[in-house]
Amino acid sequence: MRLLIVILLSVFLVSVDGHAQDDSNEGSDSRIRPVTGKVYIYKNRGGNIGLYLGEQGTLIVDTQFEDVTEKLLEDIRRISKKPVRYVLNTHHHGDHTGGNANLSKEGAVIVSHDKAYVNLINSIREGSEKVDDSILPNITVSDKMTFYFGNEEIMTHHLEKAHTDGDILVQFKKSNVIHTGDAFVNGQYPYIDKDNGGTLAGYLKGLATLYQMCDKNTKIIPGHGNVGNRQDIRKTQQMIETISKKVAFQYLNGKKEEEIIAMNELTSVYDEQGFGDHFITREQFMKMIYDDISAQYTKSDREDTARRIEEIRRKQNSEKDGGDGDKGGR
Ligand SMILES: [Zn+2]
Repeated sequence: MRLLIVILLSVFLVSVDGHAQDDSNEGSDSRIRPVTGKVYIYKNRGGNIGLYLGEQGTLIVDTQFEDVTEKLLEDIRRISKKPVRYVLNTHHHGDHTGGNANLSKEGAVIVSHDKAYVNLINSIREGSEKVDDSILPNITVSDKMTFYFGNEEIMTHHLEKAHTDGDILVQFKKSNVIHTGDAFVNGQYPYIDKDNGGTLAGYLKGLATLYQMCDKNTKIIPGHGNVGNRQDIRKTQQMIETISKKVAFQYLNGKKEEEIIAMNELTSVYDEQGFGDHFITREQFMKMIYDDISAQYTKSDREDTARRIEEIRRKQNSEKDGGDGDKGGR
């Protein structure tokens, strides 16, 4: 009974406090939360927005959806009356660029990676983003560019072929914060957009680069999920590497795609922590890993492995038959 009261009380406190740590924060009083110094995170609908609210003006990283901008500006103005000077897009996806046109009208200069610009044009042409040219960036960058706001340096870094081929990380050097876009999502299975140049190898390389850029105090604003630190990046690296190894083992062992995807034990540690409860489900993630593994190995690799496993089995059996069976498994 006491436990029940504690649970009810904590639910109540969370709801009045508005600090429920979920991804969409619609209706909450605290859509803007301080990360450190003048850097803030804004959560509403879409990818996390990073804000720098400086004396010299405001810089915004990612813009969620078109219908969010009005609320975003309202919320920013409660803290800072300075103009929005720059918008950086971490990549081209609609949940990160939807507010571009609105902010452009406010006078902001929109900046993205060269390839993100191309991807955005392609998605407009294909009609996968229901928008026009007014959401396009005004300036593109191939790798590094620095924005100076007083004593803060805000620097872009390109990651090759990670979540897409047009990803940039945005590093707030003095504040020691990095906005990663979807090159890192916290506590969730990641999406790798292969149609727009993303690769699993590049994604892992991107996480390694990101980890290297951090010290133990660095705060990470992920594309989705809660603010984290380098341990969270390490955890995602280990998650992808561990599951890939397990899938590779089963694949080389001759298991079929549907059999491997159905093996819940390969991902259960992460499923239990809710990794599959977001944009990418467990099954979608497993399919992506499977596709990557099956492209890495040839048919003869599989036959080779099957032969070797058979040899080991035969050897073990003959040892057992030879009266060695009571010596245990080694
Ligand atoms: Zn994305």
